[in-house]
Amino acid sequence: HAQKKTTSRSVLYDASMQRRVSERLQLETDLQQAIQNQELYLHYQPIVSLETGEITAFEALLRWHHPTRGLISPAEFIPLAEETGLIIPLGQWALSQACQRLRLWQEEFPHLSALSMSVNLSGVQLSNPDLIKQIDELLESVGLCGDSLKLEITESFLMENMIENPLAANQILKQLKERQIKLCIDDFGTGYSSLSYLHHLPIDILKIDRSFLNSKTEKGKNSEIVKSIVNLAKDLGLALVAEGIETEKQLTMLKQLQCDYGQGYLFAKPLDVHTLYQLFDQQAKSLN
Ligand code: C2E
Ligand code: MG
Ligand code: MG
Ligand code: MG
Repeated sequence: HAQKKTTSRSVLYDASMQRRVSERLQLETDLQQAIQNQELYLHYQPIVSLETGEITAFEALLRWHHPTRGLISPAEFIPLAEETGLIIPLGQWALSQACQRLRLWQEEFPHLSALSMSVNLSGVQLSNPDLIKQIDELLESVGLCGDSLKLEITESFLMENMIENPLAANQILKQLKERQIKLCIDDFGTGYSSLSYLHHLPIDILKIDRSFLNSKTEKGKNSEIVKSIVNLAKDLGLALVAEGIETEKQLTMLKQLQCDYGQGYLFAKPLDVHTLYQLFDQQAKSLN
């Protein structure tokens, strides 16, 4: 009897494994076609000056509307894209869309001319030897200056690249810098970067990971961490953005600690293009 039970359990296990594998394969196939099927689009989340509340930049965030599964979170499909190499065309598409969008807005709404666009870059893209050439061609064809573009790379990805191929990684960072493209370290505080390394990297902005704003974890401890990241950024001459601000209480704490910029649901969720047009139209009218 026991024997039979084991067998049926392992059959069950195999079946569920198999299902997961084939689901993954299916998703991979679907993702391959997502661009040409026009299932991908970007949302844009405002980044604001904490002092004035003014929008200074947007972060472009990929969205995938799957024909049968509906909206799939980037937390699910980005890792899949990274593992399969699909992140190269996907990331290039997102970069291109975001740059074109910013250029359009700058043309249509003069009051937005100082805005910049932040785009996430995967570690796989950073180690793509064609990256710089692709960026050059893109900026040229869109007519956008490098200084209005920011690239976000997570702390873990950046360090991985720096350790595996420091020469190539440094070279790319240097080339980005020459084009006045700003480099942000995303999800800062969750990776394992050594502070001595940080000092030598040509980075411009740190984004504090939103987990440090969560007051449900040990009381007081997080605000100490935020405080030391604020000081670190000041010492290194970097701008600082706090991610995931949801409450007035968090905002007050960040202002007290003199964090400069913020992003989060308290200000705005990532917004679709249509909603943003309405917002910009209103702003433009009130300026006239
Ligand atoms: P991220 O770059 O750290 O982006 C910030 C994430 O936090 C976004 O999630 C955003 O919607 C979310 N967020 C912003 N404010 C709040 C808040 O107040 N509360 C909470 N709970 N969440 C907030 P999203 O859009 O789901 O993206 C998840 C991650 O997927 C991104 O994290 C980024 O790592 C990746 N991703 C998204 N688009 C791209 C892309 O075009 N390329 C690459 N390589 N990665 C991308
Ligand atoms: Mg980001
Ligand atoms: Mg982040
Ligand atoms: Mg993140």
